[in-house]
Amino acid sequence: MSDVLILGGGIAGLSIARALTAGGASVTVLDRAAPGGPASRAAAGMLAPHAEFDDEDDPLRAFALAARAGWHDYAGALETETGTAIGYNASGAILIANDQAERARHIAFARRHPQEAQWLNAGEARHREPALAPDVEGALLLVHEGHVNNHLLVEALTRACANAGVRIHRTNATPIVQVEAARIARVDCDGIVWRPDVVIVAAGAWSGSIEGLPADAQIPVRPVKGEMIAVAAGTRPLRHLVWRAGTYLVGRAGLPLAIGATVEDAGFDDRLNPQSARQLFEAAKRAAPAAIGPEIVDHWCGFRPGTPDGLPAIGRGKLDNLIFATGQYRNGVLFAPSIAGLIARLILSDDDAALPAAFSPLRF
Ligand SMILES: Cc1cc2nc3c(=O)[nH]c(=O)nc-3n(C[C@H](O)[C@H](O)[C@H](O)COP(=O)(O)OP(=O)(O)OC[C@H]3O[C@@H](n4cnc5c(N)ncnc54)[C@H](O)[C@@H]3O)c2cc1C
Repeated sequence: MSDVLILGGGIAGLSIARALTAGGASVTVLDRAAPGGPASRAAAGMLAPHAEFDDEDDPLRAFALAARAGWHDYAGALETETGTAIGYNASGAILIANDQAERARHIAFARRHPQEAQWLNAGEARHREPALAPDVEGALLLVHEGHVNNHLLVEALTRACANAGVRIHRTNATPIVQVEAARIARVDCDGIVWRPDVVIVAAGAWSGSIEGLPADAQIPVRPVKGEMIAVAAGTRPLRHLVWRAGTYLVGRAGLPLAIGATVEDAGFDDRLNPQSARQLFEAAKRAAPAAIGPEIVDHWCGFRPGTPDGLPAIGRGKLDNLIFATGQYRNGVLFAPSIAGLIARLILSDDDAALPAAFSPLRF
């Protein structure tokens, strides 16, 4: 039976902890409060691989589609286990064609993937989604895309972990790793010493700077800032995820309509830019004006964990007992159940057959 210490208690760390305890491991999650807040709360909660990966040759696309396919069962099991509804909704997504080139691309996509997508002319699009702008000439309906309330998801995962006996230690201090003979011998924090068999780094955008880890064992994860807003309700609530020209609108259960998101290389600068908020608001009104009320009711940012090649970093690191589960970038909510399953197989069965080689942290 493995004794596992997970650094990071966001969606990644918690979902891995749940999967490991289900397989009999003894797990501690050590979560350091990070400035700006974790990505898992900042996210929009979309489960939208087609909308995110429109390049059909993108190596992440197949992984993302498989991840989405697992979400229905994952959400059901988590809700039953914890008694917490997480607002999983396979609502479908509407991608508004913004110009002729996009229109042609969408129509061709719908022809190639009739089980997944349908081209809607202007009338059909507005019939499906009455809040759409009057100038919309057509849209692609992606029938299986969806979303989840990521705030409730974090709550449910925390509850599932607590029920399963995961020890969750939250701290304002920085955990310090000590390496001896090419393995992590101990982790110190708040006067406590852990000597786990395995350490998993699931520290989101902070995964590239783990205190005490030698430079050649660190991996190049960087923060990619994203700002989002939420708006007051308009006259017609959205039925689907809606995208137009890179801006998306997500109506999660129990939360005001969220609109995202900027993508910025700004380090860990968590200041909010009022101009970004205004631009998101205007872009959302161009997509679905009837869904939008008169004012912005919330504005926040988070840091996505990015890698130089845009692929996740999942699997063994350069020390014997070091594993990474990070680099999910824009899709860490979507990927969470799949990553948890892969890491659990790796640790509990020493089986890395299902882990895509392209995701190996050893590539850096
Ligand atoms: C604006 C925005 C919108 C997004 N929208 C979506 C979306 O719609 N769909 C989707 O799938 N993904 C989305 N994402 C991406 C997704 O949020 C992330 O990929 C995912 O949340 C990463 O989860 P995580 O648990 O790895 O990181 P985090 O949630 O950041 O958690 C990491 C945790 O580690 C802690 N920590 C940091 N350093 C240490 C340390 N040294 N020791 C211990 N703990 C530490 C932090 O405090 C934090 O609690 C979005 C992200 C942003 C910013």
